[in-house]
Amino acid sequence: MMTDKELADLIFPNITKTVEDYEKMYPERNLPEGAIVTRYAPSPTGYIHIGALYQSFVSQAFARQTNGIFFLRVEDTDTKRTIDNGIHHIINGLKEYNVTFDEGQIDDDNYKGDYGPYVQSERKEIYQTFVKHLLERGLAYPCFCSPEELDAIRAKQEKLKARIGYYGPWATCRNLSNDQRAERIKNGDPFIIRLKSPGNFNNKKTLVDAIKGKLSFPENDMDLVICKSDGLPTYHFAHLVDDHLMRTTHVIRGDEWVASLPIHVQLFEVFGFNPPTYCHIAPIAKMEDGKVRKISKRKDPEAATSYYHELGVPLEAVKLYLGTLANSGFEPWYTSNPAVKAEEYVFEFSKMSKSPAIFDLDKLNFICKEYMAKISAKEVYEGIAGYFKEFDNDFYEIFTKDPEYSTAFLNIEREQKKPRKDLAYYSDAKKEMWYMFDELFTNSWEDKEYKVDVEMLKDYVANYYDSTKTQQEWFDDMAEFGKKYNYATTKEYKANPDAFAGSIGNICEMLRYVVTTKHQSPSLYDILKLLGKERILNRVENFASNI
Ligand code: GLU
Repeated sequence: MMTDKELADLIFPNITKTVEDYEKMYPERNLPEGAIVTRYAPSPTGYIHIGALYQSFVSQAFARQTNGIFFLRVEDTDTKRTIDNGIHHIINGLKEYNVTFDEGQIDDDNYKGDYGPYVQSERKEIYQTFVKHLLERGLAYPCFCSPEELDAIRAKQEKLKARIGYYGPWATCRNLSNDQRAERIKNGDPFIIRLKSPGNFNNKKTLVDAIKGKLSFPENDMDLVICKSDGLPTYHFAHLVDDHLMRTTHVIRGDEWVASLPIHVQLFEVFGFNPPTYCHIAPIAKMEDGKVRKISKRKDPEAATSYYHELGVPLEAVKLYLGTLANSGFEPWYTSNPAVKAEEYVFEFSKMSKSPAIFDLDKLNFICKEYMAKISAKEVYEGIAGYFKEFDNDFYEIFTKDPEYSTAFLNIEREQKKPRKDLAYYSDAKKEMWYMFDELFTNSWEDKEYKVDVEMLKDYVANYYDSTKTQQEWFDDMAEFGKKYNYATTKEYKANPDAFAGSIGNICEMLRYVVTTKHQSPSLYDILKLLGKERILNRVENFASNI
């Protein structure tokens, strides 16, 4: 009769290393006490979901704040989902947000780390060594069931109202003898390899998840697939092998994997390995018709990080927002330390939300405005220039022609107690400041009801306006000028409106409307100063001839 060892050799004749060999090759990491080793493990689809950025941002924070390791592992065993250049997009897309890796592929051409290969399709031999280890001990077996046979089992289970799955008495290939198995293999029958689960469904298991707390579940008794017909492992088995050999201390991943915990816990037990600490992150969700649902790649454009890039959302603001979603302590911390970067926050698993974080674009917009108001005009300038260089070169050329001029505009009312909050996204710059550029200025005064005393404005600009005056002097001059046309100070005017043509404020409003086409703008004094006397006069004259 064929032994388990002989069957294992028949299935994997070329596998000569052992599990112990690999454990020696990838020894325990020599890191400071409490260091967290964690990973981001995407399939190379090239698409970065906001939830993936959220997870990798948080994982990186935990690793960095403990002087640990954050590595990238490419999970490409599902070849259908893999796209060319997928990893390039992921690495570069995350790098924009300062999410970078200590090990694995760190940029387009460079790899780092002693625990690789970090790409699953290059680890076939390692997985097969682990599968062979189980086969040799009779803890796994080849299964020859065709899809039709599996369907038939399922149909019977449904009829009998039994639990669905391949387990216990239903696991028909469990009962084949090694000789029968060998014969079918030699015959060329296709097969996969299943774990021979030692579990009993009536036993309860418990585990403490660092985020979710204590979880209990029935022991796994399903003979799950560990190796597919192409010789590659399933996600569950690769997770065991990779996270064991890469010496991951914390598996930080989406909570859709909680349901697989019985399997994962059992795999670690079967091998006698210490399991990592599991940290299951609740997804980013959306409210729709009063219900919470996961933010979806298919339905929600804002699910893709590229959405934020294309909108010109400051990357730092996205991270600040993700920080507020991730940890309840983040927002109070940030509000009282506004000069710091999101990365400086010390995250705690116990403060991570157990339930879905509701994503709210209005809140993001609010955070963006706060952020834009806080950074320097120069930083805003650079953000805007970077955005338009990529998305609108015409505006980029105009905006960057005189950097000092554009920066000065962005600096208006910036250093005040209550700075301006008109920009949320870099892309807003064009609609907020086009009128400052003669190339873009259009005669788009739309308020047909609004009365402007053009002759008065001409007189003011030509004969009274002086761009070298301080704001107070400018205002005093304006008040003096107003008298000539019977315009009083606001106070005087309010006290006796019938006695005057209007208030000084009204003159300013007219001027603002004529030079910006708007009723609202940043400080008129600063705008006039930037435009300079000649351009203001041109605009007033242009207004006169177009209205
Ligand atoms: N490749 C898996 C996924 O994209 C990774 C899950 C994990 O982090 O273990 O969902």
